[in-house]
Amino acid sequence: MKFMRVGPVGRERPVLYVDGRHVDLSSLTADIDGDFLAGDGFQRVREATDLPEVDVTGQRVGAPIARPGAVLCVGQNYAAHAAESGAEPPTTPIIFYKAPNTVVGPYDEVLIPRGSTRTDWEVELAVVIGRRARYLESPADALAHIAGYVLSNDVSERDFQLAVSGGQWSKGKSCETFQPLGPWLVTPDEVDDPQALGLRSWVNGEPRQDSRTSDMVFDVAYLVWHLSQFTVLDPGDVVNTGTPQGVALSGRFPYLRVGDVMEVEIDGLGRQRTVLGNA
Ligand code: ZN
Repeated sequence: MKFMRVGPVGRERPVLYVDGRHVDLSSLTADIDGDFLAGDGFQRVREATDLPEVDVTGQRVGAPIARPGAVLCVGQNYAAHAAESGAEPPTTPIIFYKAPNTVVGPYDEVLIPRGSTRTDWEVELAVVIGRRARYLESPADALAHIAGYVLSNDVSERDFQLAVSGGQWSKGKSCETFQPLGPWLVTPDEVDDPQALGLRSWVNGEPRQDSRTSDMVFDVAYLVWHLSQFTVLDPGDVVNTGTPQGVALSGRFPYLRVGDVMEVEIDGLGRQRTVLGNA
C-alpha cells in the first residue's frame, strides 16, 4: 500500500494511492501518524470496501506521515560516500538527529539558510517505525518493527555541519525545510528487498547520485536493531539510512543556489522535485 497526505500545511488529509486512484481515508483515521501505524490501521484500510475516491489534482502533497517524534540519521553508511567525505567507512553506525520540524512535502520549497554557502543534497532510503523498538534481540527482529519506507532528502549545510559544528553534525542538518519526505509511505509488502533499490539525484536536470542500497555498510535491519540498543524507536519515527556518493561535499559539483531544482528518486518509492528558495 502507498499512503499519502494531501492538502495545505497542517491540514493534510490521509489518502491511499492504489491502481492510479486516490482514495480518501478520513473516515478511518484523522492522520497517518504513529497511532495509526501502531494500531490496526493497515488492517482497517485493507478491509474497507466503500472508501470514496478523491481528486487531488492541483493540491499540495505533504510528507506522507505526520510530524515524527524523532528523525534519526545514519552518517557515512555508503563506503564511497565516506571516501568522498575524507573518511574511512565506519566500523559502527554513526548516528545524529535532525529536528522533526524540518519535515516538508516532496514538492515544497527548500530554503537555503541565512549565511549558507554550502547547502547540499542527500538522497536516502528512510524507514518509518511501526512498532515500538526497544532492545530488539537481533537484526532479524527489526523488520517486523518497520511500517514502511519513504524517499528522503537529508538536506545538509556543510559549513554548519563541519566548520562551525563544535564537533557534531546536527547544526548542519536541522535547518528549516531540510527534510523533504515522500510522496509515499510504501508498506514493506510492496518493497521486495530494501537492500536492492536504486537511488538517484539530480540538480537542474544533471545527474548527481546514482547508487544502490545494496552498497550500504550497515543494512536496514542491522541499523534498526543497533539503534534499539541505545534509544527507543517509537511508531512514526523516521530513520534516514545514509546517502551514497555524488554530493557537493565531494568537490565534484557546485553547492545549491536559490532557484536550483533538486530531484531525488528511489525505485518504487517515487520522485521528489524541490526548488531552492531564500530563508
Ligand atoms: Zn544523510
